[in-house]
Amino acid sequence: MNIIFVAPPAAGKGTQSNLLVEKYGLAHISTGDLLREESNSGSELGNKLKVELTTGKLISDEIVINLLKNRLMKDDIKNGFILDGYPRSLEQARLLEGILDELNMKIDHVLYLDMDKELAMHRALGRLTCPKCGKGYNKYEEVMKPKVDGKCDDCHVDLECRSDDNEETFNTRFDTYINNTQPLLDYYKERELLTVIDNSGTPEETFNKIKEVII
Ligand code: AMP
Repeated sequence: MNIIFVAPPAAGKGTQSNLLVEKYGLAHISTGDLLREESNSGSELGNKLKVELTTGKLISDEIVINLLKNRLMKDDIKNGFILDGYPRSLEQARLLEGILDELNMKIDHVLYLDMDKELAMHRALGRLTCPKCGKGYNKYEEVMKPKVDGKCDDCHVDLECRSDDNEETFNTRFDTYINNTQPLLDYYKERELLTVIDNSGTPEETFNKIKEVII
């Protein structure tokens, strides 16, 4: 089962991905993570990426698809994968289709976690992450609060908030996201792969809706 996750910033994609990984043994492939790993590897490409990633701009299609192709050839994706952060444009969707054809794979579901901007903003402003294990929390949502204020339940270290989770940056990120994503949603709708998931409830409610779709 191969899934593409499409969701506005702060929609809880990370949380839902972790739940899917746990339940179905899917590999979680985030192109942001792949790029960050490469940039920390000390390779020539990595050093170039290090500079580019700090600008927040998109990395060239060629670099991203090559990293993605290498990742898709690893053994751990035998149960399927969740693709997170890719594709971000129609061109990337087409490139992906080509690579999957080559590897004899296909996408089964494109899941769009739908939510309005106000709610997404509220979640973004409350979002906290453990710098050690990566677990996500939210100080405004009862079910996602850490047990001890500001500390990771498992690692007990101080939780951090992302520098781009402030009101002004979030507004821009959200609007840009929606504008860029609509053509992608149309593309996958035409191919009858798209399901829009109402993401206004708790993470558990959203996960239940996802399970109904992918079973
Ligand atoms: P993310 O972790 O998804 O927020 O991605 C972090 C950064 O990696 C983005 O700001 C981009 O610079 C780069 N990136 C991630 N995915 C892609 C992609 N599909 N195409 C181009 N650049 C990407």
